[in-house]
Amino acid sequence: RIAYVNGRYVPHADAAVHVEDRGYQFADGVYEVVLVYNGRMVDEIPHLDRLDRSLGELRIPSPMSRPALRSVMRELLRRNRIHTGLIYMQVTRGVARRDHPFPKNAQPSLVMTAKRIALPTGAAVENGVRVISIPDIRWERCDIKTVALLPNVLGKQQAKEAGAYEAWQVDRDGYVTEGTSTNAWIVTKDGELVTRNANQAILNGITRLTLLKLAERENLRLVERGFTIEEAKRAREAFISSATSFVTPVTQIDDAVIGNGKAGSVGLGLRRAYLDYAEGEGRT
Ligand code: PLP
Repeated sequence: RIAYVNGRYVPHADAAVHVEDRGYQFADGVYEVVLVYNGRMVDEIPHLDRLDRSLGELRIPSPMSRPALRSVMRELLRRNRIHTGLIYMQVTRGVARRDHPFPKNAQPSLVMTAKRIALPTGAAVENGVRVISIPDIRWERCDIKTVALLPNVLGKQQAKEAGAYEAWQVDRDGYVTEGTSTNAWIVTKDGELVTRNANQAILNGITRLTLLKLAERENLRLVERGFTIEEAKRAREAFISSATSFVTPVTQIDDAVIGNGKAGSVGLGLRRAYLDYAEGEGRT
């Protein structure tokens, strides 16, 4: 495997940044994960737009122009012979002597890796996955895709130890914000497709945005609003979305079985629509 580190393509095993990189010391950086599906990137431009937004919110300069970035992404896929997989890219404020305020002359660090992934299929899709609910202990700017992921790591570990696939984080008022690495969706008993409105409490997933567009085209009854964990447990269907899990049905939330315990038709329909989109208009 080959990685890209600050201007160089290097063997993955040797890919390293300095110990005084602010990403390492302060989690002072942002990242993106882009799906590669059948040889092409999916929603590349929206991901790069979100990267720019995350950088802007933290006042980290862009490490390179967009055309240069896009050519590094392509070169990395070529060198790693990725047909289906993902690109991970991370930009930090750079290397500087450890001190909390922004350094004066740091150059942002850009690292990029690519790997093959197996798509969630078969049982995980038909039978759905289980999620647990946990308190949302994150900060108030979850709209920024930063590498400060400790609460997400702890939440996912808790899910894993409970034999679940994901943890849905619940705010103080009992409303689901999102998963630790996915957005959360339900279909209510009267057939309304619901996902939380995007504000500073959640990451506005690129997959979420694409699914909203696809749902609208399919004339689904769609509402962007908060829903409580109680409402979710009574839902007809539930699912999660992200660049690497697309739409993955959820059939159990804590101890509550969702619907009839099998993947629901709205979620499966959106999954199909998303995969068509990934092979069609979404690819670059
Ligand atoms: N929410 C969180 C906290 C995430 O980390 C992610 C993706 O990693 C998502 C939602 C889904 O975002 P996207 O669809 O852009 O992958």
